[in-house]
Amino acid sequence: MTDQLSTPQTAQTTASGKLTTASGKPETVPSKMETAPNPQKEVTCEHENLTDEQILSAFEDSGALCQGHFRLTSGLHSDTYIQCARVLEHPRLTQDLALEAASRLPHSLLPVDLVAAPAVGGILFGFALAAALDCDLIFSERVEGVMALRRSFAIPQGARVLVAEDVVTTGGSVHELIALVNAAKAQAVAVVSLVDRGKKPDFGSPYFPLITLKTPSWRPEDCHLCKSGEKITIPGSRDLAKSEKNP
Ligand SMILES: [Zn+2]
Repeated sequence: MTDQLSTPQTAQTTASGKLTTASGKPETVPSKMETAPNPQKEVTCEHENLTDEQILSAFEDSGALCQGHFRLTSGLHSDTYIQCARVLEHPRLTQDLALEAASRLPHSLLPVDLVAAPAVGGILFGFALAAALDCDLIFSERVEGVMALRRSFAIPQGARVLVAEDVVTTGGSVHELIALVNAAKAQAVAVVSLVDRGKKPDFGSPYFPLITLKTPSWRPEDCHLCKSGEKITIPGSRDLAKSEKNP
């Protein structure tokens, strides 16, 4: 399904612990315990650029565009659900998409110190984006419905934070995560998503969706599918925490 997507980043770990890329250029495995941000760090990942058509094909071929009757995480109803998990289940494709998203960021916004992503949807893409930008990843999650940092995650004061999400409709989760960034006296330098559903959210920071898919969504009270008695599917993860048994 990824015929149209080249995968030039194929990297192999050699016995010496170095990564070698397709270009033959050795890369030192970065130490994850580096905590001090490196102000000279730049995006050095070389990759073959993906066109918007190739990115759309990746979503279509992965089965990520689902038809039916859905309640989106935003609370809006739609006849289309973008199941990014179907794309993100392919690590190499995810890596390619993250490299493309990273390469489209204006250099003036780089480097960033940290990628932060709202759980659950943003984690895998955020991880790939952090790898592409050679920085760390943290994720936020809901505690009794309120977005919070758990697992000893922290946002350092003054950090330049890139917020990553899979699909943005109204951008509610992103807004809540940016509020956490601001509360930590850090800076949300930009927001990146795999998909923007075309509602043009204003995050107060530059927003870079990899692809915009203007699929229709509407308020529950305006839903013709509800009125015709269509069974609704709730595929998002916002209610996940409510059913979690473990702390
Ligand atoms: Zn409905």
